[in-house]
Amino acid sequence: MGVDEMQNHAVEQEGTTATGEEVLDGVVLFGKYALLKVLGYGAFGKVYQAKNLETGQSVAIKVVSKNKVVKKGLAAQIEREIAIMHQLRHPHIIELFEVLATKTKIYFVMEFANGGELFHKVKKGRFSEDLSRRYFQQLLSAVKYCHSIGVYHRDLKLDNLLIDENMKLKVTDFGLGAVKDQTRPDGLLHTVCGTPAYVAPEILAKKGYDGAKVDVWSCGVILFVLTAGYLPFNDQNIAVMYRKICRGQFRLPRWTSPDLRRFISRMLDTNPESRITVDEILRDPWFLKGYREVQCSKLRHWTEPEENERRKSLNAFDLISFSSCLDMSGLFGEPEVSDSVERIVSEETPERIMEKVVEMATAERVRVKRNTNGCGGARLEGQDGNLVIILGIYRLTDELVMVEIHKRETKDGGSAQFWKHKLRPQLLQFVYKPEAIISGDSK
Ligand code: ADP
Ligand code: MG
Repeated sequence: MGVDEMQNHAVEQEGTTATGEEVLDGVVLFGKYALLKVLGYGAFGKVYQAKNLETGQSVAIKVVSKNKVVKKGLAAQIEREIAIMHQLRHPHIIELFEVLATKTKIYFVMEFANGGELFHKVKKGRFSEDLSRRYFQQLLSAVKYCHSIGVYHRDLKLDNLLIDENMKLKVTDFGLGAVKDQTRPDGLLHTVCGTPAYVAPEILAKKGYDGAKVDVWSCGVILFVLTAGYLPFNDQNIAVMYRKICRGQFRLPRWTSPDLRRFISRMLDTNPESRITVDEILRDPWFLKGYREVQCSKLRHWTEPEENERRKSLNAFDLISFSSCLDMSGLFGEPEVSDSVERIVSEETPERIMEKVVEMATAERVRVKRNTNGCGGARLEGQDGNLVIILGIYRLTDELVMVEIHKRETKDGGSAQFWKHKLRPQLLQFVYKPEAIISGDSK
């Protein structure tokens, strides 16, 4: 096997171990990101440190194999993770820069946290109350921000807390996060998830729970571990551990200050109704010491970008989510032909796309009414009103255009049939397919 093939191999094969790291050196994804080394292993795949060759910026890239995800039935979870991470902008939350995809893999390009996991630091020895407080305040500001926009982490634990080169805390791993619209009419979340040691008693009771209260419990467990150096609820026997959690049985070290003792007990209150809330935490005397609200321009609530802005700032995430049909259909899944609106992204010129559509429509004896305002789109009409399809063509970037296909409901489903059997196959040839460019790849 040649060196180039080996490089390719390293990216496409699952289970590359430490020895694979040298082989990965020099692999360039999409002509843009040079993979440097493996940072860690997650539930869905490896996380690499990489360098953006255009800007020199260090990034972390989480590689997820689509196969694995689809097999495990986790596609929805990954899509949710993308949507959620993409919404979040906070100095103490790992930012998702872009999402790239090939036929087999999804690449999450994220902010790189240079200092590794907080977990590794605590393993070397418990923190002083002051240091614990400093990290806890940063964690809480991230949690407060997420809650304010309706996002609950639900999997807060030490391994999801990373440290950057300035010793700032960064929360990662929103794979299990749930947004408000997932809640049932009673406003409670119903999925059982999370890691046992950090899981709130009401989750174990499987009665449905409030995401905000569950996150507060996990924050309590995290603060406990930071200051004590061990887990509050732990036992080799999972059943015993669950029992300890449900009874709220924990023991803090003797030297713990009374203020901290009381504060932790308020977070590890087994009754979610009386448990301290995020707002109350922000007024707690132990918490407040030296607390400064995060002042950072990066802190902003996510809003729907203006149409113009959206057009300018398109990235692979937008491309993937735009393309709800055809080959780039979402990230997974079969093309949906039942929707009334379909979108494809193409590198072809609007003129050429229109030309092909007109050619096909004429052959099918479908009338094409071009928009009078240049090349913006057209209306396709069947002979006896049995189909109506409206095409819009928009330029997204200098290279890419988006074609929007609106199918009007018709009595005998003519529009959908025409789309499925005629128009869609015609447009398929134009669909933009971003592929990984592996350096030295001869393909
Ligand atoms: P999963 O959610 O599948 O468990 P994670 O996102 O937690 O995967 O990533 C696994 C490991 O990779 C982390 O525990 C951490 O060590 C490392 N890692 C993940 N993201 C980053 C990042 N942005 N910067 C540095 N290291 C990271
Ligand atoms: Mg993780």
